[in-house]
Formats: sequence, structure tokens, C-alpha cells
Amino acid sequence: MAHAVLQSSSLSCSSSMDRSRTLVKASDIFGSQLRSPEIEQTHLRFLDSFKRNPTIRLKALRESPGLAQEIIDDKAKIAEVTKKAPYHFKELKHRFLGFKKDKYLKDLEHYQRLSEAQAPKFMVIACADSRVCPSSILGFQPGEAFVVRNVANLVPPHENGPSETNAALEFAVNSLEVENILVIGHSCCGGIKALMSLEDDADSSSFIRSWVTVGKPARFKTKNAASNLNFDQQCRHCEKESVNRSLLNLLTYPWIEERVIRGKLAIHGGYYDFIDCTFEKWTLDYKGSGLLSSAEYSIKNREFWA
Ligand SMILES: [Zn+2]
Repeated sequence: MAHAVLQSSSLSCSSSMDRSRTLVKASDIFGSQLRSPEIEQTHLRFLDSFKRNPTIRLKALRESPGLAQEIIDDKAKIAEVTKKAPYHFKELKHRFLGFKKDKYLKDLEHYQRLSEAQAPKFMVIACADSRVCPSSILGFQPGEAFVVRNVANLVPPHENGPSETNAALEFAVNSLEVENILVIGHSCCGGIKALMSLEDDADSSSFIRSWVTVGKPARFKTKNAASNLNFDQQCRHCEKESVNRSLLNLLTYPWIEERVIRGKLAIHGGYYDFIDCTFEKWTLDYKGSGLLSSAEYSIKNREFWA
């Protein structure tokens, strides 16, 4: 599995860390210990070929005594994953049938209207982090929000070219004509931690590293404004700063800026702190001068929900 050289080994908000040496796997950022199906398949094929060709098997075992134990361990892990998978889907099936019974069938007319068209009022950009599900924390029901989730809830500027995030934005703004775009940041964001850990001269072979460089202006601003804070505190600062940078990046799309100026579209920032379970919300007060800098926007309607 590919490794990304990041500077922290934990998602804990309060952890101190050796930022110069620690290697962090991509899986650590999201806390998943499961292997991908492709990797499991590779292991299965590998084990299968061993069964078919005992000569290779014996040779390999002779040359690498540790391999036998590794194979046994792998078999146990595969068996465990295989055993758990049906249980996970059994649970999902139960939940789906519950949704159908308690929601869909009880409001059939609404869901049939939705099957013909959607008219969400919100476009939401949230982190891919499993703890930050906008529908769960803000109660969006089917049809209410067009959602795209990516690592660190970043909006790349127009000049960066196509990405799945701006493809979703284009559809939401130009076709669905949403009235609000809400970018939601969150506490303990592994993507922001990766951004804050970037070394300027490091290679960008990691997909995570390449993606989070979108947030470099927020990182730069954080390093300048919060240089007296420790690394974890700087990450908290950057989690909000990067939301504001994303709000400004939204305005680099002419079709977004035009609708904001005409009052057809409002741009909001949000910050979900899942340690204290609080939510902060604010709205970009755009003056529309055509030039983008922090001096040309201000924030209005700031609210703190606790
Ligand atoms: Zn995140």
C-alpha cells in the first residue's frame, strides 16, 4: 500500500508528534484498517498459486522461514474480513428496508416527485471523513442538498482545471440553480493535518499530498497568523482558514460570481467540531470588486450552535 510521508501519526487533536520522521499510511488518515478488495484478491491469487504449485511453495518457505507464519496470518485476516462482510451488508439491508418502510412508503408522493426531478436549495462541500456526514449532522433529507465530499473539503480555484468537485459545482449551480453553497470544515481533519505537514521540497507522488496542495494559501496564511501556536492549534486554525479560502476560490468561477453578484446565490462557511459537538456558520459578504483578496470580503451572519 502506498505510503504518504506526513508529519503526524495520529488523528488525535491533542497529540504531540515528531513531525520530521513519522511515516503515516493513507489508511491512518481515515482510520481504516481494512484492505481494499483488490489487495485481498491479490493475496487470494497468491495463496491459490501456492496451493497449485507445491514446489514453488516449498522453495519459498525454505528461502523465507517467516513467510509460512505470514501466510497463516494472512489467511486468518482474509477469513476475518470475509466473515464480517455479510454481517455489514445484513445491517445495511436492515437499514435500507427500515428507510423504505418508515420514510419512503410513508411519504410516497414526495419520493415519487423526487424520482422525477430534484431541486435542492443547498450545494454542500464536506470532507470525506466518515465522522462528518452532512445529512446526519444537519439533517438533510433526500432532495435537499447536492453534496460532494473530498479530502479536507477543499474547493480548487477555477485555474486548476477540472476536478470532480468543480464538476459537481457546475451542475449544482448552472443546472439545479441552488441558492446556497455551504463549505463545511471540521475538527481533527486528517487532510488539513497533511496540508500543514507538507514539506515545500517534498515530492508529490502521493495523491493526498497532490490534492491538499490546493489549500496551500490557507496554510501560508495560518503559518503567518498563528506562528506562535503549536502544531495542533495551527491545524485547528487552518481548518477554518481553508474554508474561507475555499469560499474565495468559489468566486473564481465566473458563473458562481455572477450569481452571487445578482443575489441569486449565497456562499457560506461552516465548521463542525465533533469533540464538543458544536457548529459554527457564517456567510461571505462579497462586495464584487472583481479582485480577490482577503481585504475584499467580509463575513456576516456568523452563528454558533452549541
Ligand atoms: Zn477532514
